[in-house]
Amino acid sequence: MSYKDLIFTSSYINGEWKQIGQKKFSVINPFNQKEIVQVDDGGAEAIKKAIDSAQSAFPKWRDLLAKERSEILEKWYDLIQQHKSEIATIMTLESGKPINESKGEVDYAASFAKWFAEEAKRVYGDIIPTHAHKKRIAVLKQPIGVVGAITPWNFPLAMITRKVSPALAAGCTVVIKPTKESPLCALLLAHLAQKAGFPAGVLNIAVGSNSKEMGKALCESPLVKKISFTGSTEVGKALMAQSSQTLKKMSLELGGNAPFIVFEDADVDLAVKGAIAAKFRNSGQTCVCVNRFLIHQDIYDQFSEKLLKEIQKLKMGNGLESENHIGPLINSKAVEKVKSLIQDAKEKGAKITYGGNSLEGNFFEPTLITNANSDMQFSNEEIFGPVAALYKFKSLEQALDMANDTIYGLAAYFYSKDINRCWKVSEELEYGMVGINTGLISTEVAPFGGIKASGMGREGSKYGIEEYLEIKYLCYGNIQ
Ligand code: NAP
Repeated sequence: MSYKDLIFTSSYINGEWKQIGQKKFSVINPFNQKEIVQVDDGGAEAIKKAIDSAQSAFPKWRDLLAKERSEILEKWYDLIQQHKSEIATIMTLESGKPINESKGEVDYAASFAKWFAEEAKRVYGDIIPTHAHKKRIAVLKQPIGVVGAITPWNFPLAMITRKVSPALAAGCTVVIKPTKESPLCALLLAHLAQKAGFPAGVLNIAVGSNSKEMGKALCESPLVKKISFTGSTEVGKALMAQSSQTLKKMSLELGGNAPFIVFEDADVDLAVKGAIAAKFRNSGQTCVCVNRFLIHQDIYDQFSEKLLKEIQKLKMGNGLESENHIGPLINSKAVEKVKSLIQDAKEKGAKITYGGNSLEGNFFEPTLITNANSDMQFSNEEIFGPVAALYKFKSLEQALDMANDTIYGLAAYFYSKDINRCWKVSEELEYGMVGINTGLISTEVAPFGGIKASGMGREGSKYGIEEYLEIKYLCYGNIQ
């Protein structure tokens, strides 16, 4: 099958492809800025129709046996895996992500469908020892209702399955609003959901270019009981404010400012390997990508030289060619942002040891910056590009102060061989996730999420399904 047979261009509502209005928007390939296809611009109207459809489908879906919901999720997983190659191609075309990473994302995305197919059957309640002789206490867990999911372009498939799989497993129905940058992976997921046998209205996708209007319609609807958002902190705050009048439960997976600390006793080669994985994945455009490398002064030069050698090996080019490690950034705005952060750093004394330039076609060279300091704009802001900035520290206390000196709290990494230090530093880091002697932490079996301005709620793992459940307490009286 050609990937072209799996490109869909309308909203998917109540089990059907629906064109709403006459407007269209273009999906652009970031590699060559050419239009891939035009997609229907459904706007807020599509969101409203999708909410109604999800609301109507909710009671029946909720009342299925957990095993029945689980079997459909399992089929969805199989279909995603069967179409891995076509999905990966579409992902690379619409996001620029190198093809091997796209294939990896398909596996990662599918893993949530599989995991929550299993978790669906384990939503246990509780019997609580009673407080009074004639009373008995039970606790039920029930699906929250219609869920609104808003997702970004940097993981066009996995950010959807990471939200939608636990929601569907719990018995909720969903309305998804993917980004206008990469709606094709989302629509392909709807096609596979239809083939897997999800009843009409259980999973709906509304596509459109006016995210502000669409987000507002989702947040302000009294029928939507929960918003799950992945994206920037700024938009997350706006969604929370818009949801306040209907008091929705929120999960917010927001921006980060990940530190990567290398202590003087670390295995430097291992740290360099982890640094490449944690910095340059998706050309530096992930929320858990390292933003600040904090290196002990005794090994700073050694680390910097070894990292430089590895950066020089990174090949940049068309994501569809499998030898390339670095694809284009998502759009020209992203390139401009990285350029301006580098200019600011230069003015404040940073040394551009390698790279530092944008190239034609939204490319930005893999870059190494030494002599970074906390006055530079990128010490407080996500770089979201292939730029490694190295800071120097003298003591453990200073490293921790530097690492925690940010409003964000998503992922942190550190390298040390000292078990005592590993415990202490893990406890002191104000982050939701900590990688110890590793630069790769994402998996469906562990809780993903942040604290502080990086948001609230957890995705994946046994905790992920709780976000879509309400707890109901039953008190039986006058038991004779
Ligand atoms: P973004 O601008 O916040 O967009 C994310 C989503 O929100 C997109 O669907 C976007 O739609 C929509 N959106 C934008 N403005 C909106 C508004 N006013 N009201 C309602 N929806 C709105 O973020 P991004 O630049 O696409 O993604 C990168 C950010 O996501 C980074 O900060 C990254 O750290 C974060 N992220 C976090 C995680 C995590 O798990 N914590 C994972 C991945 C990414 P349009 O694109 O169509 O405008």
